[in-house]
Amino acid sequence: MSESVLNNYAQVYVDLILNKTRFDPWDLNWFTEAPFWRRTSMKFSRTYKQIPDYEIGDLKHGKSLDDMYEDAKQLAADLANYQKTAPANEQRRAVYLAEHASQLVVRLALLKGEKMSYDEATKGLYDLVAPAYDYSAFEDIVKDLGSALPGTGSPAEKIRAFRKSIAIPKETLLPVIKQVAKDFHDMSCRYMDLSGQNLPRIRVRELPGAMQFLSVLFGYDYDHIDYERNFNINYPWSVDNLVECVAHECEPGHFVYFEKRTQAYIDTCWPEMSVVSQHTASNAFSEGAARVAIDMCLENDRQKMTDYEREVIFDICGLDKAKAELMPLWHRYYDVMGYGKLEATRKLWDGVWTLEEAGAFLEKYCFNDLGSGVDTIKKAPDDIGHFCAHNYIKDVVKDFFNDVCPDFRDQFKLYEGLCSDDFSMKDILDHSYRFEPYLLK
Ligand SMILES: [Zn+2]
Repeated sequence: MSESVLNNYAQVYVDLILNKTRFDPWDLNWFTEAPFWRRTSMKFSRTYKQIPDYEIGDLKHGKSLDDMYEDAKQLAADLANYQKTAPANEQRRAVYLAEHASQLVVRLALLKGEKMSYDEATKGLYDLVAPAYDYSAFEDIVKDLGSALPGTGSPAEKIRAFRKSIAIPKETLLPVIKQVAKDFHDMSCRYMDLSGQNLPRIRVRELPGAMQFLSVLFGYDYDHIDYERNFNINYPWSVDNLVECVAHECEPGHFVYFEKRTQAYIDTCWPEMSVVSQHTASNAFSEGAARVAIDMCLENDRQKMTDYEREVIFDICGLDKAKAELMPLWHRYYDVMGYGKLEATRKLWDGVWTLEEAGAFLEKYCFNDLGSGVDTIKKAPDDIGHFCAHNYIKDVVKDFFNDVCPDFRDQFKLYEGLCSDDFSMKDILDHSYRFEPYLLK
């Protein structure tokens, strides 16, 4: 009886998420409409992105932002009430739904133009507040790179020269992406219970602007997904961002999450498992975990990652293999850069810095090329909390995994569990989450 009450609330939630896509076109990362779906026409685009990866038609119509805002507030209040007296075996699901409904209220408030601080917004959307960053880390990493990187000139000049030296030549982009996608697919299948059928067809082509890739979904069923992934040949690919993008977007990253959520939806028939909405705590987890899982594939061993980069990526791309030894330090820089972008976004959002000041900050530490800082940071407010939900959550998930199960094989099991489960961000932040398979509830 009570399961059907929660299912009704969950269906209201899903309908609002789908309706909202009309005003929030980049929100819906994944949607399972039914146990399977097949593309049946040739009407699709390889020049513009669509999210979800097919037209959901009438499902996105019917309500204004104001209507949705009122409905979402009512839903959040009803679920908060329900949760107070929910039986023990429903507590976790009730909390998940109540929190996701209140995250939806915050997203709708932002879409309606309500002002809130950056930290209030990320707290409301993801239940995450990135602590104030120690700015001396920016100085330190640039100094360390200045002494470790080859060549002459200032640390900034050396950083720019090194970035160029690990750029992927266009003619090797297709073979190297195919190899990386396949290797990380194989490693993911080795350590997780996956269908093994999610390796996408990979192509490279010219895509507009700074777009990294464009997907065409050809179908999914209850245990696998058929994707075509087109990578932008004009994007500035380098050894660091290539693995980061390919493995994050495919396996062990988002494809694992999409597969596990689809299976969870089919196993439970809980409507909330049918959607992956970007502006939620559950999706923030998946963003961070998709990055943590890349390291897990290489057994959380920095040397193994360096060996992989040298023997596969440097090799296929014809890059100077001696430079691979500098990659561990370069990855540290990459992580610090994520926090640099988070700080620039937060200070711009809160009005502490102007656009020019934020752009100059990014260029000072070479997080952006000279002259491109403003262009990058001016788009940041359109994707509120992106760096919080990618960089800060990555460290949150990593700390949690390392604390509760230091062995990478156990971490994969925990990751799989979280992908299929309803959980609260609080359980991850305070390390209290333990996987309780929904099938056993
Ligand atoms: Zn992602």
